[in-house]
Amino acid sequence: MTEQRDLYQEIILDHNRNPKNCGALDHCTHSANGYNPLCGDKLQVQLVIKDNVIEDIKFHGNGCAISVASASMMTQVVKGKTVEECLSLFGDFREMVTGNVCPMETAKKLGKLSVFSGVKDYPTRIKCAILCWHTLKAALHGEEDDITTEDE
Ligand code: ZN
Repeated sequence: MTEQRDLYQEIILDHNRNPKNCGALDHCTHSANGYNPLCGDKLQVQLVIKDNVIEDIKFHGNGCAISVASASMMTQVVKGKTVEECLSLFGDFREMVTGNVCPMETAKKLGKLSVFSGVKDYPTRIKCAILCWHTLKAALHGEEDDITTEDE
């Protein structure tokens, strides 16, 4: 399989061309900046959290197609979820992109996010896909320092 077909599925290209929830929030309660030095992806995630639920979320930044599409789809999926549900999804997403779960399980838990399962075969791309999730987690935890994917 070529990287093109495997990795850059139409839904990913589409989110890259027309990212959802892309922009800045005027009154966010939580935010964090993330940076993936391996690729140069940079993004900021801003959230409005009320009663432990993500009421609104936006992101903006500069990154490759995978990082932008991943952030776009993440914002769609986590809106309306509780903080704990988001952290649980992050765990599932990480397991998927690092190839630790079988594809059937992945599809069940992650739904449309499972289009990113292809990155597990491309180690340099894993960090692109997961950057937005690390940034979301930092924002949820109120971490003030910018995070990078090289901190692990
Ligand atoms: Zn990237």
